Amino acid sequence: MILAYHRVNPWYSRDALSVSPEKFQRQVKFLLTGGWQPLPPGLLLEEIRSGPEKLKGKRWFLITFDDGYADNFWFAWPILREFNVPPIVFVNAGYISSHYLLPRYHDSVRDRFLTWSEIEEMSQKGVIFGSHGLTHRRLTTLSPEEARREISDSRRLLQEKLGQSVEFFCYPYGDYNETVVSLVRQAGYLAGMVTSRRMPPVSPYSLPRTGVYGQTGQIAFLAKLGMGTWRERRFFGLWQSV
Ligand SMILES: [Zn+2]
Repeated sequence: MILAYHRVNPWYSRDALSVSPEKFQRQVKFLLTGGWQPLPPGLLLEEIRSGPEKLKGKRWFLITFDDGYADNFWFAWPILREFNVPPIVFVNAGYISSHYLLPRYHDSVRDRFLTWSEIEEMSQKGVIFGSHGLTHRRLTTLSPEEARREISDSRRLLQEKLGQSVEFFCYPYGDYNETVVSLVRQAGYLAGMVTSRRMPPVSPYSLPRTGVYGQTGQIAFLAKLGMGTWRERRFFGLWQSV
């Protein structure tokens, strides 16, 4: 199952996008001690290419983060390193090392995005970076040219800086349609991720994720694992060829 987080920090107990470090650690520990195997992102790509036979039966998990907040570096990454769980971090390439804050946040230190040097350090130590576009736009509302720029230029920029191929894309606001998917494919990405309660179309460009939020308690977390497993079994069960 692919889990979708945004932020991990001790500051915002009422922010839906922020999970406390203690809670995050408990959730990761719970998965590991409950028999869930961490799935390296590279293995997910291999499975997608060869037809996801292995993914159908096993209990596996992959942790992803959206938006690329600096608190991923400060709080989430040390926990994941301790447990040897490789995540994917989806960054807005145009906001890296910038002073821009998303409108819901106001603190220039706590709420800032990752810097290139933080990203390089994480990347060198096994964190996989994916693109969340350049500037967090709703891609279906843009002209094809603007959408192409968000999708392709973000990949180019990340690849230049990281010196490695960027394979994963995550649609800002989970907003996508056929045009957006074909732009993502044309740009060279191998997979796309969504977060949705509904069953997405079976495709490597709409891999379903289960969102975990600040208010998600232990019982809700268990329920999400159950729902996510069910949806994922259906999704990969319907998979024929890609
Ligand atoms: Zn986002």
